[in-house]
Amino acid sequence: MSKSYVGGCLCGALRYEFITEPTTVYICHCTECQKVSASAFGVSVRVSAESFNITQGEDKSIETVADSGRTKTGFFCPECGIRIVNKPNSGDLVVIKAGTLDNPNLFRPIAHIWTQSAQSWFPFADGLPKFKKAPEDVKELNKLWSNNILKVNQ
Ligand SMILES: [Zn+2]
Ligand SMILES: [Zn+2]
Repeated sequence: MSKSYVGGCLCGALRYEFITEPTTVYICHCTECQKVSASAFGVSVRVSAESFNITQGEDKSIETVADSGRTKTGFFCPECGIRIVNKPNSGDLVVIKAGTLDNPNLFRPIAHIWTQSAQSWFPFADGLPKFKKAPEDVKELNKLWSNNILKVNQ
């Protein structure tokens, strides 16, 4: 039986759920995540696009060009402005902003990406793999995620 994961924006107007396990979870230090989080980095939860649903409220969207040069669409609450998810314009996945989960503690990230634009004070003290940009192979972060789950379950 699959359980569902739920979250929403700051004001509560926009709510979402996803029903499958993430394919990976990572910390992103790209300049867009810094802007969108209004902080030093974003925590990204990748799930398959068909697993994700807005369950309440009307979203607004904005198309942006990522540091990688690829375009993606960001979906946010028109009331409070909080972005909850990005959808890359290629590939069948969405990237949920982990801080919008009702329980942001559920998923432990497995890597840092876009470290070339990380804040210079950030200590990187967790020993996780680091990538200067996004890994060339999109599956790389998924592999790290499933290896990690195997380790945790042993
Ligand atoms: Zn809102
Ligand atoms: Zn990012």
